[in-house]
Amino acid sequence: MKYRTSRENMIKYQLLARGITDENVLKAFFTVPRHRFVPTELEHLSYNDSPLSIGESQTISQPYIVALMMQTLELKKSDKVLEIGTGSGYQTALLAEIVEKVYTVERIKSLITGAENLLNDLGYKNIYYKFGDGTLGWADGYPKQEEFDKIIVAAAAPDIPESLTKQLAMNGKLIIPTGNRTLQQLVVITKTEDGYVHTNEGGCTFVPLIGDEGWQE
Ligand code: SAM
Repeated sequence: MKYRTSRENMIKYQLLARGITDENVLKAFFTVPRHRFVPTELEHLSYNDSPLSIGESQTISQPYIVALMMQTLELKKSDKVLEIGTGSGYQTALLAEIVEKVYTVERIKSLITGAENLLNDLGYKNIYYKFGDGTLGWADGYPKQEEFDKIIVAAAAPDIPESLTKQLAMNGKLIIPTGNRTLQQLVVITKTEDGYVHTNEGGCTFVPLIGDEGWQE
């Protein structure tokens, strides 16, 4: 298994050391070959503790922040998960290792095409893809799906997109970086019988979420 030791070190020093304990998340990080999701010239850096460029002015996120977001969502096998910001497809693969179905949306055509080809190549059969504006969620996506148990947004929004909270199932959770263009807070919204409950998981920095209910370019 190529880069096995790098992957074990990433899990030990970047994830376990910072409080990632969810067994399913740790197992997924061990299984998914992160080096396949970065440009060839950056492959030797692929298990570093940092985001990396994937072209189109976009990034594959730092492993720890991806793990934190996934752990916070308390993913279950039966979950239907909506992911906004496919990027390289790395987080999509991690999610697809844990849950039944992943629905992913990306606004840059070359990225979603590249991710879909790679994820097919790696054998994932539980992922649905949509090219378009993820601030509107899975609206008009195929197959039709109106509600999701978990929604994970991998880009930073000025406010919480209403279309996304509307697509949460009862007791579902949405995690989204929210703030200005340089610094955000990781906000979690849980849909309960009494309304939406907001919590804050701390500071972070993401590329902007661009779209109808995000930033305007
Ligand atoms: N999770 C990805 C990975 O593992 O490679 C990294 C995602 S990257 C930090 C953020 C992605 O969100 C970019 O690919 C960007 O094009 C995408 N994005 C930004 N605004 C979007 C929108 N409205 N709808 C869908 N994708 C969007």
